[in-house]
Amino acid sequence: MWKRTRIVATLGPASQSLERISALIHAGVDVFRINFSHGTEQQRAEAIQFVREAEQQAGRPIAICGDLCGPKIRVGAVPGGAVQLTSGQDIVIQRTPIEGSCRRISTTLPELVDVVRAGETILLSDGRLRLEVTSVTPPDQFTCRVIVGGSLASGCGVNLPETKLAISALTEKDRHDVQWIAQHDFDFVALSFVQHPDDIRQLRALLEQCDSYPQIIAKIEKPQALQHIEEIINTADAIMVARGDLGVEMDLPSVPLTQKSIAHKCEQAGKPCIIATEMMESMINSPRPTRAEVSDVANAVFDRADAVMLSAESAIGKYPVAAVTTMKRILQAADAFENAHTPSVRLALNQDDTTASLATALHTIMEMQHIAAVAVFTVSGTTARLIAKNRPSCPILALSSSHQALRRCCLYHGVTAQYTETPRETGEAIRLAAQTCQTMGLAKPGENVIILAGYPFEVPGNTNSMIIMTME
Ligand code: PEP
Repeated sequence: MWKRTRIVATLGPASQSLERISALIHAGVDVFRINFSHGTEQQRAEAIQFVREAEQQAGRPIAICGDLCGPKIRVGAVPGGAVQLTSGQDIVIQRTPIEGSCRRISTTLPELVDVVRAGETILLSDGRLRLEVTSVTPPDQFTCRVIVGGSLASGCGVNLPETKLAISALTEKDRHDVQWIAQHDFDFVALSFVQHPDDIRQLRALLEQCDSYPQIIAKIEKPQALQHIEEIINTADAIMVARGDLGVEMDLPSVPLTQKSIAHKCEQAGKPCIIATEMMESMINSPRPTRAEVSDVANAVFDRADAVMLSAESAIGKYPVAAVTTMKRILQAADAFENAHTPSVRLALNQDDTTASLATALHTIMEMQHIAAVAVFTVSGTTARLIAKNRPSCPILALSSSHQALRRCCLYHGVTAQYTETPRETGEAIRLAAQTCQTMGLAKPGENVIILAGYPFEVPGNTNSMIIMTME
């Protein structure tokens, strides 16, 4: 059975070998995520090498995404690695770093004392502990009441759902990591804690300064981003619903609705949407998922996600390959149902755009006759992306001589990407498309295939022709 929804898997100690990465690709991974919150540069360089070697062996494009940490605030060191906070007690958070105690800690963001206000909530350790700011004594410290206590570990995350942080989404570490990314073979860069479309513009400018052009994924994990969500979607190349931090920063029951709404907006804007975090969480320690996890993955498909993501399951879990295999089986079943029951989409794209017009024409043709496959000659991947967002019921074959474009297609729903020389004239394009459809078993003699191409062939953003070809 064919899997249309793509799988992003995070690399980590559980997947740091050529054999394991090959097994993950074989099981169904399309994109590997390297999380810059963990590991060393040497480990990252090694992981990239393994992926590229495994990609060659697999004979299909595989993309790599570098995930920048962003301004994730963390608690400083505490003695013995953890201290106990009791509900009702007070705790001071100070500007200068200290090895803290249960009465006084510091964080990785000294400026916190400048921005918090009395009455605001501070969440620690993925929201398990809750503090309320009771008084601020600038510039040195502020005091909080512990509302929900528990064990507080060194380095655990700090979330401020009610505080507007006037800080850039790119920290000094991110800027260093961007330089490193520019020198290595990445296809996507994910930006954490995006609050405003300018955060994306800043990252794009920084990458361009380094002559590096990976696609940018905006991670939506702060409620502030939702105020500008349409513009963020339009500015970024793809969106990730990062439910881990989003689920801490906003009311948890609102997260499924936010997921649905963002996926719908991405569909209308023609941008890929990834649903991330805790999808198969129990498979970190168990060879089987829970019923609820299976439903969550299937529901991401019904919400029209283009991709689903594994985090700890593939990075540090005991069953990384089983997690991917299981996810693939859930996707195959949900994809088949979704394809049979949901009509293709008319995107709300710019009416003046020729590619968008062709995508709409494709939609109409597919309502009138059986089409076995859509073959798209793509220079940058853009046409494949727009056609994919249209959700035709048949397979989409992306043909390109650009490895960069083929790897971008790894995030696009229902797209099989295949390297091909750039055709010189229309007759050659038809022959190449027919040959590849036949070799890949996408169309049988007598069946119709739609070919989309831009003439002249090597110019990006130039798709201007559509051919209905009957297979011989
Ligand atoms: C998330 O918070 O859901 C997420 C994907 O980000 P990270 O894994 O970087 O914490």
